[in-house]
Amino acid sequence: MARADTLARARQLDRPELAYLVRFPTADGIRDMELTWAELARDTDWVTARLRDHGLATGQRALLTASGFEGFWGHAVIGALRTLKVTYGIAEAMGWDHRRTAVFHRELNPHVVIGISAQTLEGLAGTADLGEMFRSTSVLLARPAAVPQLRGVGVTAAVISAVGPALALECPERCGAHVNAAEWRVGEQDGQLSLAAGEGRASPLPETPLAIAGRVVTGRCGCGSDDPRVLLGEAGGLSPQRS
Ligand SMILES: [Zn+2]
Repeated sequence: MARADTLARARQLDRPELAYLVRFPTADGIRDMELTWAELARDTDWVTARLRDHGLATGQRALLTASGFEGFWGHAVIGALRTLKVTYGIAEAMGWDHRRTAVFHRELNPHVVIGISAQTLEGLAGTADLGEMFRSTSVLLARPAAVPQLRGVGVTAAVISAVGPALALECPERCGAHVNAAEWRVGEQDGQLSLAAGEGRASPLPETPLAIAGRVVTGRCGCGSDDPRVLLGEAGGLSPQRS
């Protein structure tokens, strides 16, 4: 029960700047990076704009499949859905939770499914017709390894993927997944992606090779964005089983 003295104490508590410790694989091993609440707020604004580009609007419904350790981008997606007043359900992206995805998909009938993984699709394939299930979903943002599986059953999807500590999100043009240039510098060397933190990030990250196959496309996209795009190898990006 809230009492005046406990509320007075609560008022004095500091809120730490640190929201998450993001742990991600690089070409040279695992690395940690701090993520502050202020950065998370900026990331959320960026994701909100990207989802608006996909036509998400108040009153629609969404299904997000993500794992707990992916909170560094999952939190930004959830914040974006709240900002847009899109009702959402969350299922785990690992294969063992595919039934929850099936139930949410049936009961929520979402306009958008975000973060679907190859493992979830493999689980669903045993009990459902994937083509029938997702053809009616207006917007599908799938992890790189799930995209060819969906294409195989006649479903087109845009890519969503972690690129190290950054999020890459494909626009409706579907010609590469955008990375927020205001926060990150993405590069390419010998067919592998590298990433550096922008100067505004609290944690410094010099140009760091990531063990992710891909290419970088610069120049204005058909959607009007100048954010660079990454073309991920089909097995590229982070999936729950690899982290
Ligand atoms: Zn675009």
